[in-house]
Amino acid sequence: MKRYSAFAIAREALRFHSGWERAWRSPAPKKRYDVIIVGAGGHGLASAYYLGKNFGITNVAVLEKGWLGGGNTGRNTTIIRSNYLQDPSAAIYEKARSLYETMSQDLNYNVMFSPRGVIMLAQTHHEVRGYQRTAYANALQGVETQFIGPDKVKELCPIISLEGPRYPVLGGLWQPRGGTARHDAVAWGYARACSDMGMDIIQQCEVTGIRKDGGKVTGVDTTKGAMDCGQLGLVVAGHSGVLAEMAGFRLPVESLALQALVSEPVKPCMDVVVMANTVHGYMSQSDKGEMVIGGGTDGFNNYTQRGSFHHIEETVRALIETFPMISRLKMLRQWGGIVDMTGDRSPILSKTPVEGVFVNCGWGTGGFKSIPGSGWGMAELMAKGHSPLTEEFSMYRFREGKFIDESVAAGVAH
Ligand SMILES: Cc1cc2nc3c(=O)[nH]c(=O)nc-3n(C[C@H](O)[C@H](O)[C@H](O)COP(=O)(O)OP(=O)(O)OC[C@H]3O[C@@H](n4cnc5c(N)ncnc54)[C@H](O)[C@@H]3O)c2cc1C
Repeated sequence: MKRYSAFAIAREALRFHSGWERAWRSPAPKKRYDVIIVGAGGHGLASAYYLGKNFGITNVAVLEKGWLGGGNTGRNTTIIRSNYLQDPSAAIYEKARSLYETMSQDLNYNVMFSPRGVIMLAQTHHEVRGYQRTAYANALQGVETQFIGPDKVKELCPIISLEGPRYPVLGGLWQPRGGTARHDAVAWGYARACSDMGMDIIQQCEVTGIRKDGGKVTGVDTTKGAMDCGQLGLVVAGHSGVLAEMAGFRLPVESLALQALVSEPVKPCMDVVVMANTVHGYMSQSDKGEMVIGGGTDGFNNYTQRGSFHHIEETVRALIETFPMISRLKMLRQWGGIVDMTGDRSPILSKTPVEGVFVNCGWGTGGFKSIPGSGWGMAELMAKGHSPLTEEFSMYRFREGKFIDESVAAGVAH
């Protein structure tokens, strides 16, 4: 892999950009791999990357039914934060956030990590108490957050209206090193690094069946033929239930559409991310100037990768109370992704009832921020059979009643 650098850009400028190579190879599938990862979203690619980087396992294929990064990884609103309540969550999300700090250098790919700061608004007295509690928990976990008052919120985000008609801003949970990153670049950067280690990323290759022998995985059937493997990682977000069914077990996840929208571009007016969880909407400004707005999930299970009008209306109506300036913005486009929700709103990184099959899912509405931490933990779990990062996130916790409850703590998990 040729290194990307300022020198490389200058060199290519002089020769009319004729020397750039493809960022990753598109190989034909081999008959056998040590590890097959299903799903070339951020989590699948990061899992493959850390298998190679941390454990030297490179006979790996990442199979993707569409195009890499075309699932939720390329559809999210790119918020990165680690201010969760429970200790196992803080550990994996903070690991991820810290890996984002150096990701561009590690991957030699500019992922545009922008630690501009994230405020989660407290708009009820209940939320004030909840976020103060989270700030104390974060202090103990070594996660840098702070509960701030309304004046500080206004200073950080001047376009906000503190005196909402229903929900005045009473303060907020502020994480100064939270922020955003370019989501496609995260997928592309990992893909390029995986390909460089000799791994095969095979797009347009849907897994249609999982082969087993005596309770152990032996391979997969795909639209590009059968492939054998020693280990199989299922990292398919909203389709986790479908793949688990192929393997012969059930997962405690539900699939729901979550959607987002962007406005027309406007001049820079907001340089932090603001989440308003009581009214359920959140907003940041992209580098192009668009206001990036996210809302909630549909109220029913579905697999439709698109938005619905009533949600847009609800989200925009809710946000206008806090950001009156958006009432005159035109909305440019909307889209949806299928998210995989667990009952406690925490992920599943786990061995499964089928020997050799591992699952990484349940990131729901908030798994972009965790991509590097999840990949790190999943790789360790697959290579060594256990990982301190994933220990508490077993699929069996639902049977044992050991929930990692982030749903009440956060109200929203983006
Ligand atoms: C609108 C929206 C906004 C969001 N906002 C945020 C946010 O601000 N911050 C945040 O942290 N998170 C956010 N998220 C959540 C985040 O995007 C996801 O949790 C994360 O991207 C999941 O990544 P993944 O790699 O697990 O899944 P995906 O990126 O969905 O990748 C899974 C891949 O598996 C493939 N696949 C499925 N079935 C098969 C098969 N049979 N064979 C082969 N391949 C298959 C799919 O095509 C897909 O590409 C948001 C999500 C949405 C939809």
